Amino acid sequence: MSQTFQILARLGHEAIRFAPFAVLVCDHDNIIRLANSKATELLTVTQPSQHSSESQLVGKSALDVISGVNLNQIGESPSCETLLVDEQRIGIELHQAIVNLDGRDWKIFYINETDKQRRRELLLEREASTDELSGLPNRRAFQRTMEGNQHRPLSLAIVDIDYFKAVNDAFGHPVGDDVVKHTGRLLNESFDEAAILTARMGGDEFSVLFETTDTASIVELVENFRSAFSQSKVPEHPDIELTVSIGVAICQVPRIGSRTLLTSADKQLYLAKNAGRNQVAYMKLDDTNQKR
Ligand code: GH3
Ligand code: MG
Repeated sequence: MSQTFQILARLGHEAIRFAPFAVLVCDHDNIIRLANSKATELLTVTQPSQHSSESQLVGKSALDVISGVNLNQIGESPSCETLLVDEQRIGIELHQAIVNLDGRDWKIFYINETDKQRRRELLLEREASTDELSGLPNRRAFQRTMEGNQHRPLSLAIVDIDYFKAVNDAFGHPVGDDVVKHTGRLLNESFDEAAILTARMGGDEFSVLFETTDTASIVELVENFRSAFSQSKVPEHPDIELTVSIGVAICQVPRIGSRTLLTSADKQLYLAKNAGRNQVAYMKLDDTNQKR
């Protein structure tokens, strides 16, 4: 590569980075190879991520990310479209440039928001639904998700760190905060695929809502997490030994009521704590538990 070419490539990269609108560069398979932070901000607006890094979109398909828009119909002139981000609609102006390099078409998408007010509302909504410390959805988001799902069978796990107060007392509140973040991260990683939602309810308590109500699957998932957690280390404080207790309510019939589900899982958590902590207690709910 000649030096001039390298300089031009670098300048092109910087031009995209500082562009006052969202830019995505995609390869011939529509895979995003370059995205600026404006694109990340716009296209991940309601996700509970605290930081919009430029690399968050790289490697994803533009067809998934620019959702709700038929990309085949987009040309060089700006066209007004409605973008779908996490079931939210945002007005945008979208156009593309196709650059043929090495016999292959590369696409550059330019996206301009036409509805900034709507996105501001969505950002506020996200802030109000996100727990600041862990970055997970908060109790409010959890309750809304529970209510939206109560027409179907559900399982709920309440996870509570054992002797968390002792961690605060021995190492200080900031270290306790690191433990909360570590727990949130591990929960998110462990239940990423299986959970409808993982939330921090407050303090050292987390909730995980599952679609599956197969007892063996839920017990295995939750038990695996308990065991993995007890062997995990908080990166900044590898000497701290941690465990969790977990209460699970498995509700195989729909419409049992979110309050009953929560109370039942809570009761199991209490039993797990009383039985010595670092364990899982669970119960199944059926029609006989039907109340709100
Ligand atoms: P158990 O095994 O019964 O769960 O005991 P525990 O000590 O974990 O439970 P307890 O509910 O008594 O303690 C929770 C503590 O969490 C009390 C509170 O000071 C602390 N806490 C609540 N929110 C935060 C936070 O955001 N950060 C930190 N570091 N501590 C918090
Ligand atoms: Mg606790």
